Amino acid sequence: MKLGFIGTGVMGTGIIINLLKANYPVVVYNRTKAHAQTVIDRGAVWADTPQAVAEQANIVFSMVGYPQDVEQVYFGKQGLFKSAKSHSYFIDMTTSTPTLAKKIAELGARDHLHILDAPVSGGDIGAKKGTLTIMVGGKRSDYEQLRTIFEVIGTKIHYFGPAGSGQHAKMANQIMIAGTMTGLTEMLVYAQAAHLDLNQLLDAVGTGSGANWSLSNYGPRILAGDYAPGFYTKHFLKDLRIALDEAKRLHLNLPATTLAEKLYAEMSEKGLGNSGTQALIKLYQSTK
Ligand code: NAP
Repeated sequence: MKLGFIGTGVMGTGIIINLLKANYPVVVYNRTKAHAQTVIDRGAVWADTPQAVAEQANIVFSMVGYPQDVEQVYFGKQGLFKSAKSHSYFIDMTTSTPTLAKKIAELGARDHLHILDAPVSGGDIGAKKGTLTIMVGGKRSDYEQLRTIFEVIGTKIHYFGPAGSGQHAKMANQIMIAGTMTGLTEMLVYAQAAHLDLNQLLDAVGTGSGANWSLSNYGPRILAGDYAPGFYTKHFLKDLRIALDEAKRLHLNLPATTLAEKLYAEMSEKGLGNSGTQALIKLYQSTK
């Protein structure tokens, strides 16, 4: 069994290192070869195109930035589907659209390929530690075949249903995060104005009914003035837009998520797209 992995960014790098540590051979491709050096140094083997990865591996993961990157990786001139071997597995872990996940699954099924959408949550730290939550859509039998590999990457693995269901679950997760990130930010802005000890506050709120992942992971980074990604603002904006598009299709109005999208769009306009999502607090600081 040989694994392939497309995308050696913040998340891909951590995941690939865990797969290598578990003794899986991994062939990798990334848009910028230099950004794959960390995993190549750990034993991953470089391939020049996604097509070349699909020729060598029978289980191929992708974790790139945006839905258009996923389209390119799968359907491009030298994409995965140019040389996909019959009965091989393709798992997209990018946070992408349910519609694209269904399209990949439909086209893949014509060539007897096994396709899963499997976006994750748990952040850069979860990727490094192998403690991600994985939300899977596709055929249950395909999910069951890959469960052992998913267990190397994550600790909570949930099967949600047919193709696209993993991406829907991830969108639900992002709708939740819209609330925890805005809550964390406004809590700190308020507490600072009220002259509270912010470290003490993180401890108090983080152990009570206000506890949440954003607070415990990003609260300390904000207090340390660390706005590095983590999770890119530009990617969260992409996710909020996918969530709102999907909500529209479901005839839903989500005013709180709509407001979060506005705030993260404003951050991008202010040049904060490549900062971590915790940089939201800068919007409040700059309006003082
Ligand atoms: P990232 O650091 O920007 O990584 C994306 C990687 O994909 C980069 O190495 C990029 O190459 C590569 N890439 C993009 N388009 C490509 C293409 N067409 N062909 C080959 N490689 C391509 O982002 P990330 O933080 O790892 O996030 C990846 C995905 O996971 C996003 O969809 C994000 O929303 C999602 N996610 C992130 C987190 C998090 O906390 N970071 C958590 C859950 C989910 P370059 O080196 O050229 O840029």
